[in-house]
Amino acid sequence: MERYKVIKEVGNGTFGSVWRALNKQSGEVVAIKKMKKKYYSWEECINLREVKSLRKMSHPNIVKLKEVIRENDILYFVFEYMECNLYHLMKDRPKLFLESEVRNWCFQIFQGLANMHQRGYFHRDLKPENLLVSKDTIKIADFGLAREINSKPPYTEYVSTRWYRAPEVLLQSPIYGPAVDMWAMGAIMAELLTLRPLFPGSSEADEIYKICSVIGTPSKSEWAHGHELAGTINYQFPQIPGVNLSVLLPSASEDAVNLITSLCSWDPCKRPTAVEVLQHRFFQSCFYVPPSLRSKTAVARTPPSAGTKGSSEQKTNRWSSSTLTNPKPSSNFSPIKSQFSPAGVQRKLQMNYQVCCLGKLLIR
Ligand code: ADP
Ligand code: MG
Repeated sequence: MERYKVIKEVGNGTFGSVWRALNKQSGEVVAIKKMKKKYYSWEECINLREVKSLRKMSHPNIVKLKEVIRENDILYFVFEYMECNLYHLMKDRPKLFLESEVRNWCFQIFQGLANMHQRGYFHRDLKPENLLVSKDTIKIADFGLAREINSKPPYTEYVSTRWYRAPEVLLQSPIYGPAVDMWAMGAIMAELLTLRPLFPGSSEADEIYKICSVIGTPSKSEWAHGHELAGTINYQFPQIPGVNLSVLLPSASEDAVNLITSLCSWDPCKRPTAVEVLQHRFFQSCFYVPPSLRSKTAVARTPPSAGTKGSSEQKTNRWSSSTLTNPKPSSNFSPIKSQFSPAGVQRKLQMNYQVCCLGKLLIR
């Protein structure tokens, strides 16, 4: 850690504190997350969810984990530095964002999500605080709760911040998947457009109540499995008709409302996947490179070593991103729905950052 000069605390979350720091050798500004819990072995560290999942991610819209350091039983993650998070940008803002700004951010987040889901992971804790922004670029961060799609249910432990939590998780389904991230994105998109949370529940029961008040109580035919889940925990849905989302999003375009409505579908199977969302009319001014046209040069790299031993005085283990693995993507997508345009359609280039993303995508 003596290679870094700590500058200032920039975040303090559930699992650790985050500091802006300077790499004294390279002059690079980084973010260092110091974990609260002590780690007594290197194996324990490299098996952490955050490490296991982030080691496998390499995408312009996923925050880059540069190094993992264990020193004196304290674990540090060294990330690329980002200026702020989406919550900071929304907080105390007097005026709405332009829809084009929201579109740009969301398009990037969905690209990051599509990549993550294809690699077999889902995030489980998407919320404005975990989406980091630097200039025009936004990246998904905080993989502390990320899960492998193929990992064995039941998933019982704490999951995601309540306001962005999908109904199947609220109803304690033992099995769920990447669709929980799509639900969270519907809530986040709406919040970006109104600067107010869409489902600000004060408890888990109130959360379901708030969801019913917005999208209406699900009928049995709309979400049979949800009714089964509710029956299992003896929960009765309140009977509320809901409102048209366009009433709650008066300044939003029809396409934005349509996309948020589909993302916030009760039934996870009815939510579009991230790849499908990238084809939605809301993003038709954005430029998307379908996976089939991207460079096929991504090759599996050397798997991470167990780390190098530090000096006997200051026990240090290090792992750096140069040892990242790059596994084959696995697909887990449902059929494309009608409001989405055909896969493979390329859209015209509109924004500078997309040029930059595109460049990175092609050389990946
Ligand atoms: P926790 O698991 O404790 O929530 P996070 O990884 O979400 O930890 O980090 C907490 C906060 O620290 C974030 O909301 C963000 O404001 C800040 N932060 C995290 N990573 C970075 C980064 N790479 N660059 C700048 N700030 C960051
Ligand atoms: Mg966080």
